[in-house]
Amino acid sequence: MSSIFTKIINREIPSDIVYEQEDIIVIKDMNPKAKIHLLIIPKKEIETLDDIKQEDRNIISEMFYVATKVAKDLAITWAYQLHFNVWKQWWQEVMHLHLHLLSDK
Ligand code: AMP
Repeated sequence: MSSIFTKIINREIPSDIVYEQEDIIVIKDMNPKAKIHLLIIPKKEIETLDDIKQEDRNIISEMFYVATKVAKDLAITWAYQLHFNVWKQWWQEVMHLHLHLLSDK
């Protein structure tokens, strides 16, 4: 079964899409924990950071690159947080890898 984020990527369910490229999509978090709360999501379904394989290393660095690009576009380069939650039953609610970008500026 595909993840909720794959459904967004495939336009099966609606979302507020901020940026998209071949391998990554950036959406607004539907339950924002800050004034700006975005999710940087690889289109490849990787469950958690723990599941990263050798061949996924480029996508991780690309996710960070996209985060800095979006931060520049939003003019918040001087004040934002990036984080991953890792593993269900602890922090991670959606089992499709995503990088949180938060800013109150
Ligand atoms: P995490 O706890 O790291 O798995 O965070 C998942 C995040 O995804 C939460 O902040 C949710 O508010 C957000 N989220 C879940 N479903 C959607 C959705 N359909 N559209 C936008 N954000 C979502």
